[in-house]
Amino acid sequence: MKCEKCMTGYLLLDNGQKPSLSIRVHLLLCEKCRREVAELASHFETIKSMEPAFPRRGVEENVMQIIRHSQVMYSKKVSATTWISAELLILASIVLVQFSPAKIWLDAVIGKQHHIILSATLGILITIFSALLIMTNLDALNDFKRRFFTMIR
Ligand SMILES: [Zn+2]
Repeated sequence: MKCEKCMTGYLLLDNGQKPSLSIRVHLLLCEKCRREVAELASHFETIKSMEPAFPRRGVEENVMQIIRHSQVMYSKKVSATTWISAELLILASIVLVQFSPAKIWLDAVIGKQHHIILSATLGILITIFSALLIMTNLDALNDFKRRFFTMIR
C-alpha cells in the first residue's frame, strides 16, 4: 500500500472507526505515516478538548486555529531521481533531434532557418526546467552545499 492511499483511507474513517488491516500494516511498517497519524490524532484530541471550553465558537473555527498553528507541511515532493531523469531526457532530445527525420525533412523543405527557433525553444525549456529543479530543491541544495564546504575545509 502506498503512503497516499494509506493516509486517504485513514482520513476517510469515521469518528472512532478502526482502520482496516492494510492501513494498520502500512502504519506498522511506515514511520512517516505513523508519525502523521499520531500528529492527526493529537490534533483531533486537542479539538475534542477545546469543545467544552469554547462552546460559542464553531468547530470550524477551532479546526482552522489548529491548522494555523500546526507545523505540518502538506506538499507533494518529486524525487531527485525523477527530476534528473527528466533533465537527462531533455538533454538527450536536444542531441537526438539533430538526427530526427522531421528535422531532415524541414532542412530539405525550408532550409536551415528553423534551427535557431528549435535551439531557442529547447534552450528555454531546459532553462525553465533547471530553474524549477533548483527552486523546488533549495533545502536539499543548501544541505549539499553545507556538507560540501565542511568537507573541503
Ligand atoms: Zn507510508
